[in-house]
Amino acid sequence: MQKKIFVKNLINNQPTKDISLDDIKNKIFRVTSKKKITVKVSKDIVFSSNTLPIIAGPNGVESRELIFKVAIFLKKLGVKILRGHAYKPLTFPYRSKKYAETMSNGMDWVDEVKKYTGMKIVTEVTEIKHLDRINQTADILQIGSRNMQNLELLKEMAKTKKPIILKRHFGASLRDMLGASEHILVEGNEKLILCERGVSTPHTHRDTSRFMLDLQAIVALKELVKFPVISDPSHASFWAPWVPSLAFASIASGCDGLIIETHPDPKNSAVDPLQPLNFKEFKKLFIRAKKLGKFFNKKII
Ligand code: PEP
Ligand code: MN
Repeated sequence: MQKKIFVKNLINNQPTKDISLDDIKNKIFRVTSKKKITVKVSKDIVFSSNTLPIIAGPNGVESRELIFKVAIFLKKLGVKILRGHAYKPLTFPYRSKKYAETMSNGMDWVDEVKKYTGMKIVTEVTEIKHLDRINQTADILQIGSRNMQNLELLKEMAKTKKPIILKRHFGASLRDMLGASEHILVEGNEKLILCERGVSTPHTHRDTSRFMLDLQAIVALKELVKFPVISDPSHASFWAPWVPSLAFASIASGCDGLIIETHPDPKNSAVDPLQPLNFKEFKKLFIRAKKLGKFFNKKII
C-alpha cells in the first residue's frame, strides 16, 4: 500500500531526486518486489515478522577471553545473535599495537563460543579470500559500509546462501544501496537484510560523532522494500550515551532489528572506545527495548 503511494507520486511526474519509476521497473525490481520476505536464521530467530532481533557484541573479537565474557553475559540476558567480527577494515591503515585483526584465530574462538552458548554469529567479510573460513562459522555474513559496492565480494557472498547484512555506505544514496542489493538477489540469495548505519553530514552536533543516524532512510526503505531493515545506532552516533535513544527511535521508525555494540570495559575497547555500551547500560537498553517492542507488536530477542 505504501509503495503504491510512492510509485503514484512518480507517475504524477512529481520531482524525484533519487529513485525513479524507471529504477523501480527496470533496475531494482527484485528488491522492491511486493513479495514479503522474512529472513530466518533459525526456528526462533526471524527478521521482519513479529520478532526484532538485537545483534550485540564488541566491535571486534579482540581476544578469546573478551568474546567469551561478552557472549556469556548476552546469552544470560536472552540475546541470540553475537557480533563475531575478526576481520576489521579501519578508516586509516595504522592499527594500535593493542589491536591487530585476530582473523582465523578469532574465528576459532568464535567457534568455541558458538558451541558453548548456542548463539548465532554475525561476521563481517572484507575480502573474498577470507570467505571460506568465515562461512564455516558465521550464520550471517555482513558487508561493511566500506564494501557496499564491492560487487565481486557481494556476488561470492551471495553464493553461500547465508543471510547477508548489507550496510549502507555513509555517503551512498538508497538508490545505490538498492542497486547493490539487486546484485545479491540476482545471484539467487533472498536472505537479504538492509542496514542503516549513519551518514556523513555537515553537522552531527558533537565533534565526537562522525555520522548521523538517518532515521528517514529506515522509513523510506520500509515504504519501498519488503526485506528486513535493521539499524546500527552504535556506528551511526559513535557516542554511547546517544545509542539507547536512537535505538528506541529506530524501533519506532519500523526497523526489524538492531546492532548494538557492547563491551565489558568500553574505554579499553581496541577500536572506537566511545561507542560501546557497558554491560549495565546494555541491560537497561534491552529491558526498555522489550517494553517498547510490545507497543509495536514486536518481540525483542
Ligand atoms: C561494524 O559493524 O563493525 C562496522 C565496521 O560497521 P560499518 O561498516 O558500518 O562502519
Ligand atoms: Mn566498527
